[in-house]
This record gives sequence, C-alpha cells and structure tokens, in this order.
Amino acid sequence: MTAAAADPRPEKAERSARPSSFALLLNNRLAAVGLAILAVIVAAALAAPILPLADPNATDPAGRLAPLLADGHLLGTDALGRDVLSRLVWGARVSLAIGLSASLIAALAGSAIGLVAGYAGGRTDQLMMRGIDMLMAFPYILLALAIVAILGPGLINALYAIAIVNIPFFARNIRGITIGLARREFVDAARLSGKGPIRILATEILPNVLPTIVITLSTTVGWMILETAGLSFLGLGAQPPQADLGSMLGEGRKVLFTAPVVSLVPGLAIFLIVMAINLLGDGIRDVLDPRLRSGALTRPSARTAIARDRRRPQGEPDAEAVLDVRDLATEFRMGRTVARAVGGVDLRIARGECLGLVGESGSGKSVTAMSLMGLVPSPPGVVAGGAVGFKGEDLLDAKDGRIRQLRGGAVSHVFQDPLATLHPLFSVGDQVAEAIRAHRPLSRRQADEETRRLFEQVRIPNPAERMKAFPHELSGGLRQRVSIAMALANEPDLIIADEPTTALDVTVQAQVLRLLDDLRREKNAAVLFITHDFGVVSEICERIAVMYAGRIVETGRTEDVLSQPAHPYTRMLIDCVPVMGEPERRLDAIRGRPPAVDRLPKGCAFADRCPRVQPDCRSGEIPLEPKHGSIEARCLHPLGPGEMLS
Ligand code: ADP
Ligand code: MG
Repeated sequence: MTAAAADPRPEKAERSARPSSFALLLNNRLAAVGLAILAVIVAAALAAPILPLADPNATDPAGRLAPLLADGHLLGTDALGRDVLSRLVWGARVSLAIGLSASLIAALAGSAIGLVAGYAGGRTDQLMMRGIDMLMAFPYILLALAIVAILGPGLINALYAIAIVNIPFFARNIRGITIGLARREFVDAARLSGKGPIRILATEILPNVLPTIVITLSTTVGWMILETAGLSFLGLGAQPPQADLGSMLGEGRKVLFTAPVVSLVPGLAIFLIVMAINLLGDGIRDVLDPRLRSGALTRPSARTAIARDRRRPQGEPDAEAVLDVRDLATEFRMGRTVARAVGGVDLRIARGECLGLVGESGSGKSVTAMSLMGLVPSPPGVVAGGAVGFKGEDLLDAKDGRIRQLRGGAVSHVFQDPLATLHPLFSVGDQVAEAIRAHRPLSRRQADEETRRLFEQVRIPNPAERMKAFPHELSGGLRQRVSIAMALANEPDLIIADEPTTALDVTVQAQVLRLLDDLRREKNAAVLFITHDFGVVSEICERIAVMYAGRIVETGRTEDVLSQPAHPYTRMLIDCVPVMGEPERRLDAIRGRPPAVDRLPKGCAFADRCPRVQPDCRSGEIPLEPKHGSIEARCLHPLGPGEMLS
C-alpha cells in the first residue's frame, strides 16, 4: 500500500488556511496589549534624537521641580531642573538597550555552554556545569553587586554583571533539552552520515532548541531590564548626568515627598515596560508551541469537545450491543478550514465479538476510535454529530466523571507504540498496578499480586522478575504484552486496539494476535481492532468494516468481505496484500490519493480512483446498502459475488 499510504492532505492549501503566527499572537488579547505598549515605548526610544525634546542633561536651577504640565515641561522637571519627559525617553532608550543586550549576551553564552555540555557529556559536561553551579551558588543580586564592585560602577559594567548572572539560567535550560535530543534517532542518523559534532550541533540540535531559547529570552528580557534599573538605582549603573530609568528613580527618591512625580514617572515606565514584555513573552511562548498552534490558543482539554448543536440520530442506543455507534462525525476545525476526518460512521459490536476496522492510512480509523472515549485532542477536534452507545448508554451525553471512570476500566485501549504510551521512569509492574488501583480499591500488595496474574495471563515469561523491568528493557513484543495486560487489568467490556501489531515483526505479531484472540474469548470482551492489514484482520475478526475518507464503505462477515467484496476499493485493498507462494502475482498499489477531508467531493469519495466509475457516482449521497451475502456497501456499481476488476 505504498502509494496509497501517503498523507492525503495537500500540504500547501492546508498551510495557507492555517492562521499565521502573528495572527495567533494578536488573537491573544493580553499579548496584543503588551505588544502595543512595547511598540509605542520602543518607537519613542528609537526616535529620541529626532523628537523635539529638550536636552536631557541641561540643568536649570531656577526651574527646578516644576509640576506636571508646566510650561515647556510636559512631565515637569527634576531637582536639577532637567526636563523629565526628555530624560524619560532617553533613559528608556538606555534601559531597553542595556536590558536587551544583556539578555542577548546571556542567551548566546548560556546556550552555547548548554549545547556543548549537553552534547559532549562526560568530563566536559561535569566541568562546565560545576562552573555554572558556582555562579548559581551566590544570591543573584549579590553576585551582580560583587561583579560591579570588581569592575567598577558604570553602565557597561552593569551590563556585563547582569549578563553573567543570567548565564546559568540559559545554560541549565538548554543543557537539559540537549541531553534529551542528543540521544534521539535523528541525531544518530546524522552521526552515521558522517557529520562532525559541530555540524550536528548547528544543524540538528540548535534548530530544535531555538524555540526554547527564544521563549526563555522573551520571558527574561523584562527581568533583566528590572535588574539594570536596580543597579542604576543603587548608583552602580548609569553615572550622572546620564539618565536611565533606574538612576532617575534613584534621583527622584531624594525628593520623594516634595515632588513625588519625579520618581513616579520612571517607576511607572519601568512597570509598563516590564509588564508589556512579560505579556508579550507569554504570548510568544504560546505561539511557538506547535501543539497550541494547530487550534486556538487554548490548551487541549481532557475530553473532546462535543458540538452543542450536534446532529442526533433517531432512537436509543441498542442496549444488547457493547458498542453501538451511529452516524458519528468528528471534525477538526482549524481557522476557516473544517477537516471532516470522520463523516457519519456506524459500528456495532456485540459481546465477545471482534470487529476489524480497515483502511488506508489517514482514512479516519484512529480518529473514529478516539472519538468513542473523547480522546481526540480539542481544539481542534469536535464531535459534530452522532451517538456512541455503550451498553445502552450514550457516551456523548455522559458526564466527564463517567467517562473518566470508563477509560481504562470498562473500555480499554491498546496502542501501536507501547514505548510511547508506557511511562519511561516507572517499572512496568508498577504501571499496571497503578492502572488497577485507579479503578479498584486494592492494597499495594493485592495490586502487585493481580499484576503478576495478568502478566501470566498475557504469557510473559518469568512474570515476577519482568514486573521490575523498565519499558526500555523489554523487547517490542513483551512491551505490547504489558500494554495488553494493562488493557485487561479491569475486566473491560470493550477493548479498542489501534494497530497493536503494526510495530512488531511477523512472528511476534502472530503471537500477539493469538494472545488477543484467546483472551477475548476467555473474557468474552468485545474488540474494535484497527489495522491497515487485511492479513491481520482475517486472523481474528468475525466482521470487517472498511473505511475510506472518513466513512464506512463496506462491511460484512470477514470471509464474505475477503472472498467476494462488493466495493471496488475493498477489492483493490485486498489485491495489495501479498500471497505466500504466489510470487508471480502483480501487486498493484491503488493509484492516486484519497481526497482531502476538508474538501470532500460530492457523491462517492473514491470515484476519482475507481476503475468502474460512472457519471451517477458523482451526483449525490450514496447510502450503505445490503449487497450479496452478509455484505453492505456504499457503491452504485458494486462487484458481483466473485467478480474481479478488469
Ligand atoms: P488513520 O486511519 O490512519 O488512523 P487518522 O484517523 O489518524 O487516520 O486521521 C484521519 C484524518 O484526520 C487525517 O486526514 C488526519 O490528517 C486528520 N487528523 C488526525 N488527527 C488530527 C489532529 N490532531 N489535527 C488535525 N487533523 C488531524
Ligand atoms: Mg491510525
């Protein structure tokens, strides 16, 4: 299924429809306010030389301490008769420049140290980090004071002092991330391709830590401006007559009671600048986080959003069936685009039955499965319509508490990649025991005993020993057995298995399939088994539902669907599966790509790739109708029993 497995979304259209970073930033009202305030202040500071301002250092003893709105002095004058407005603008210019430069120096030096230490490891790391620790051992401001004391007072020295005390902050942060990245596969691949350490750091690791550097920077600039002001306030930064916001504050302090305005004005300016930068920094952080980007600027909620005006199917859910999904529709709403990933799906699974959900990658299988328990990330996911009946109860109407109780209890999941779903820092035994205790009032000992029994049940050899292992110490097959044990922990009525064997090699795959099949019969649990592989389905499923572009296009008993499918799509999918002992058979990938789910065509979504397409295929909604045998298909020109595609 090579060609067919490609991503169905046309990249370009999707990207242009997504809001830009800047639009997202402005969407965050607080960040927009911060940006506006900062823009005004920065513009004024930059324009200081061309603004019609008085000389900031010209003293006028006769006009000292003029009040606000005095003639020629909008913000009055200070104790030496200097124009406060002019000093404010020039002072803000100095404070911003010093704070920003100090941040940049700290970010540059700190990130470089963090990158090298984290990547090199070993003695280099030890040496560099102990140096950083020494810097961190002193209280922050005290260290800055000590540095200025050694270098001598002055703005540039204050800049160095503040940059130095902030280096550890960046170094620690970046080192932590670099350590994680240095062991990742793409870095190994770069090493294998012959790249040297400097190129790897520059091209593989730096781009990955850059967002973190920017985020850290955006949140520390404000803090550094505050520190510069602090040093100047103490007389260690800007030296008279030069103005910066901190020294203005310090000078104003002397006349605090006679003319409070002189110190209030720079104080207010410092407050505004720092607040604006922090608001903007938070906004930038949210925009740079790719998980927050895909939708609005809200964090994913614990449960998929359900449209308030969702279309409801008629009638009550079937209480006999374990799962009775009717007309389920799940969409991803991103900006103005709506991707209809699941567009009206019906599924019914009885107790003890296994239904195989098959389809190309991107056809909506996982989104269907995740919609059942509200696991689709929201935003952008929204359940737009339908009903999810679980033993007669509509889960879309259920309270959040009820869903939480069902998750991992009566309904459990097995995912494709157990290494991603198991916690890397806890032993597998502890994790299964925790899953048990989340739903049953057992003591630690009882839960451990139960875990051992489950490990035996999923045929993990030497269970008592294996319980103490960490996920990375187990082979892929054993890990998947642990996930299955976890799924079985609370006697589930429904097991949702999303490509549980795709990451395993063929022999282990067969073992895991047999295990799932045995356990299902033993426990009489219903299974929704998702796969893209017809070979796997035929092993364990009684019925098959074939999915295409978010809809079920064919369903029926496994042997009927496999031997005499009615839908040309199913026929072509089956023809993609290699058959042992028939090497001369031609394997055709299905030509073309599935349609983009945000622009589904009218009529049959498969029409553009179908060899049997007729004009009426594109004219309107095609219902899922009974064909021969147990088969129902969404096709106007189905294949007859045993008929092949010419
Ligand atoms: P599969 O059948 O391979 O499991 P999925 O159900 O994962 O396919 O995906 C169905 C469609 O939904 C795809 O077009 C995919 O791009 C889209 N999709 C899945 N998850 C998200 C998401 N979090 N945000 C936006 N689109 C998504
Ligand atoms: Mg999937």
